[in-house]
Amino acid sequence: MKELLQNAQHIVIFTHMAPDGDAMGSALALYHWLGGKPEVIVPNAFPAFFNWMPGADRIHVYEKEKAACDTIIAAADLFICTDFNDPKRIGPMGDKMLANPCPKILIDHHLNPTDFADEVHSHPEASSSCEIVYQIIRTTPINPMNLDIATCLYTGLMTDTGNFSFNSTRAELYDIIAELLRAGVQKDAIYDAVFNQYSEHRVRLTGYALYRKMRIYPEHHLALITLSADELDQYHYQVGDTEGLVNMPLQISDVYYSVFMREERAKPGTPKSRIRISFRSQGDRPVNIWASEVFHGGGHANASGGEIFGTIGQAVRLFEQTYKTYLK
Ligand code: 5GP
Ligand code: MN
Repeated sequence: MKELLQNAQHIVIFTHMAPDGDAMGSALALYHWLGGKPEVIVPNAFPAFFNWMPGADRIHVYEKEKAACDTIIAAADLFICTDFNDPKRIGPMGDKMLANPCPKILIDHHLNPTDFADEVHSHPEASSSCEIVYQIIRTTPINPMNLDIATCLYTGLMTDTGNFSFNSTRAELYDIIAELLRAGVQKDAIYDAVFNQYSEHRVRLTGYALYRKMRIYPEHHLALITLSADELDQYHYQVGDTEGLVNMPLQISDVYYSVFMREERAKPGTPKSRIRISFRSQGDRPVNIWASEVFHGGGHANASGGEIFGTIGQAVRLFEQTYKTYLK
């Protein structure tokens, strides 16, 4: 790892589509650790509630600056892929990266990474990719921890565990948090920046979704929420506004599975809208097989995603035709 990093002149750090706190945190922590020299490229826009993160203003968004990013990718001599397990998860950039034969490092906590990287740090038992980045920084003598790195890492630990409510039972995690606090992390301020800066529209959209759009399938302990592009428009939807919504039906005592479908209007020149689907479950009730076999996605046993191209109605029909096969 140390050799790869020290021999490289043009490092590019990638993270997954629809970046979340762990994607942002792990990518930016590496960026700061490597002295601010790498280029960080994300496939599409990240939510505004991550704008405050140190280094967020240096991130390239591929969808917005395709040509410039293609040049950077072609000139790279080392890629670091963080928080994703398959080049498909970075969209069209995946093929551009594979076309450049330089070394690739994978840092990730999703199951079964595709075999594309030269150096693989895959730890599905880890709470987050930020936890793995922390361990790499701790054990690789390149640069010491600093407040920017620690702030980015804490953000990923916090968001990928739902503020330490799931994937967070291993004691090591709290050793790490203690170290990050010693590095000066302002944990309450980070919580506030991510979870208490919503727009009024966002909170009302959540209310509407739960009150009017949540359907319960009691015999399968299953909840479904759908939001069409028109409904999202009504509430002035911004990227990230439905983050966390899929978890809320699990607050109901006998709901163990939750699915959320969100329509994205067809891009110019394409005929069908994209229905983006999130799956969550509790306990020994995997949803990733369902997500992968029916909805072209995958993920963790208790948190998966997928998509179909078509209408919300078609997605709901597919859901209703298949949930009995895949759920207990
Ligand atoms: P979310 O519902 O937050 O978009 O995604 C939840 C989890 O599902 C992510 O952390 C990721 O592991 C996984 N996931 C989401 N979308 C996809 C997808 O299209 N393919 C795969 N393989 N995993 C996905
Ligand atoms: Mn993650």
